[in-house]
Amino acid sequence: MQKLEEIKGVGPKTLGLLKKLNINNSYDLISFYPFRYEVIKRSDVRNLKQDDKIIIDGVVESIPSVVYFKRKMNKMTFRLNTGNFLLNVTIFNRAFLKNNLAINSTITIIGKYDKLKNTVIASDIRFGGLSDKESIEGVYHSTYGLSGSKIKKYIDEVLKDYDVINYVPESIVSKYNFMNKLEAVYEVHNPSNIQKLEQAKEGLKYEELFIFMLQMNYLKLSKNKQVGIKRNVDFKEVNKFIEDLPFKLTEDQLTAVNDIYNDLVETTKMNRMLQGDVGSGKTIVAIIGMYINYLGGYMSAMMAPTEVLANQHYSNISKIFKKYNIKVALLTGKLKKSERDRVASLINKGEVDILIGTHALITDDINYHKLGLVITDEQHRFGVNQRSAFKNKGENPDILYMSATPIPRTYALTLYGDMDITSIKTMPSGRKKVTTILKSETEIMDVLQLMYQELKKKHQIYVIVPLIEESDKLDMEWIEKIEAQLNKAFGKYFKIASLHGKMSSDEKAELMEQFKQNKIQILISTTVIEVGIDVANATMMVIYDSYRFGLSTLHQLRGRVGRSNLDSYCVLISGRETKRLEILTKTNDGFVISEEDFKLRGSGDLFGVRQSGDMNFMLADIKYDYSLLLKARDDSLEFLKQNKDIEKINNPHLKELIIRTSELG
Ligand code: ADP
Ligand code: MG
Repeated sequence: MQKLEEIKGVGPKTLGLLKKLNINNSYDLISFYPFRYEVIKRSDVRNLKQDDKIIIDGVVESIPSVVYFKRKMNKMTFRLNTGNFLLNVTIFNRAFLKNNLAINSTITIIGKYDKLKNTVIASDIRFGGLSDKESIEGVYHSTYGLSGSKIKKYIDEVLKDYDVINYVPESIVSKYNFMNKLEAVYEVHNPSNIQKLEQAKEGLKYEELFIFMLQMNYLKLSKNKQVGIKRNVDFKEVNKFIEDLPFKLTEDQLTAVNDIYNDLVETTKMNRMLQGDVGSGKTIVAIIGMYINYLGGYMSAMMAPTEVLANQHYSNISKIFKKYNIKVALLTGKLKKSERDRVASLINKGEVDILIGTHALITDDINYHKLGLVITDEQHRFGVNQRSAFKNKGENPDILYMSATPIPRTYALTLYGDMDITSIKTMPSGRKKVTTILKSETEIMDVLQLMYQELKKKHQIYVIVPLIEESDKLDMEWIEKIEAQLNKAFGKYFKIASLHGKMSSDEKAELMEQFKQNKIQILISTTVIEVGIDVANATMMVIYDSYRFGLSTLHQLRGRVGRSNLDSYCVLISGRETKRLEILTKTNDGFVISEEDFKLRGSGDLFGVRQSGDMNFMLADIKYDYSLLLKARDDSLEFLKQNKDIEKINNPHLKELIIRTSELG
């Protein structure tokens, strides 16, 4: 396999950027498929409406003029003669192209047509004209410093001479008549027409699903054979702890505690998914699990996806365990070296009962003793590979996964096919329903009014601004615009701050702390992850462009408010897809909402499950490709049954995949 650094033009810097996109080898690279396609075809300007997309070629008619403004931004304008029309072209942050735009040079522009001003707001300028035949182009995710078109160039380079790995057994390829893998990969990057592209994608999607289901099925089949830790713990002891809590557990919580207790006192190894809405009380169930494990004489580790969440868990959990004399420690990547060394040495000496942290928990120099239970919070953010990390440390602990994205049973059985599932369906009593309000972009004044009502009551507000994904610059502009708008309305009396991906985690933690202490009243955040936090005084969540999110994600977001006895609100601002969003105004039940998400099959982010390493699908989408998934499930199970002797599998990559899976446990 060609190495990434052997590709023309790829040096250490590009390697680092590729890594950022999760591209670590040439297979990752060729599997870095476009996230959408663009049909390149000359627009008929006459028939375009206001704000339509436009693709047009012509010659530069005037010398481009450039103005610069803050944050190193610039705006370039010039006239383009298309032969039939004179158009004004405006493009941001491409001043560096100015010298290539000589008068009379032929170019193509892609952008949005402002008919009223006869202006194209261009997103892309290309040199040369359009061909008369339409073509299809992939659009790739990019990162700052590495454009999609550069990535495409590297992909083409690798594909020139490539021996592609094919995981799907020959018999299945011919059964479904899938396109040859290498041809399919080439087609997906260089589509010849829509029909052939779809055909190519079908086979590649199947492969992704096949790999996933093969692993799931393998783990499930082997799981039944695994022997775990048997603990001797009297439930009376556990009950005392439960009765000592400041609240009464709900029925579902009690059932969950029972499931976990049974797993921990029996030899069966626990491999359980605990799912329930944000705020349904999963954490306390996990805490009780850790207590049972402690009584059994073992150490527990709890892994959270972010520093902020880990810190929050640590502070809550230490409080609860304080009077039991149970030793709780925190380990994250952001600890000072001396503190980290201190914690690591405590762990090495076996002097920690409960360890809370981030990925830092699975770094090499941490040596666990009697690690009996591992809990991963928001498990969909971790992959299969990370699950095995503890096992590679010579431990084979019981495992509890937690997910705040409840999904209906049928889908859960597929997604979490290798686990047992416990669901918390009811919320603790006394919890107030979050009133959800849908507003269009033109009703922004109403939204500000609603915000003012809450601010007046000395409550706090989260504002979510979804990322646009395609461009860091646009994101920053968008956030600044909203921050400016809010500052104009409230800045005089209230403090407003924004939390975004460009900040260091120290800066983020600092801001969160200030928000917690009510030194900030309005917190603008760009991502879902960073609001994974508990601030009871925050009573309002305002989500801009909410159509960009899946229903389940929106539901999770609003779960950040309504955490006290105060009335709480969620305002969804959206210029489109309001019909889909209406369900959120009607129900607060995460299971119902996720079911609806599936039924609608609209665009969406698939519950954020897409982020997971388990479900590392580039093309497949279990929502759209559910029937393909079911085929892959059945085929892979059949395959495993017919190939019990792994050594005899003649596809070496498939063999290696199964061996790797067998090491995951
Ligand atoms: P989750 O982890 O499911 O998002 P948490 O465990 O963080 O939810 O619970 C949210 C809040 O509800 C916490 O402050 C927790 O102490 C509280 N809580 C949990 N269970 C109950 C209960 N049965 N009755 C009242 N409050 C509860
Ligand atoms: Mg939680």
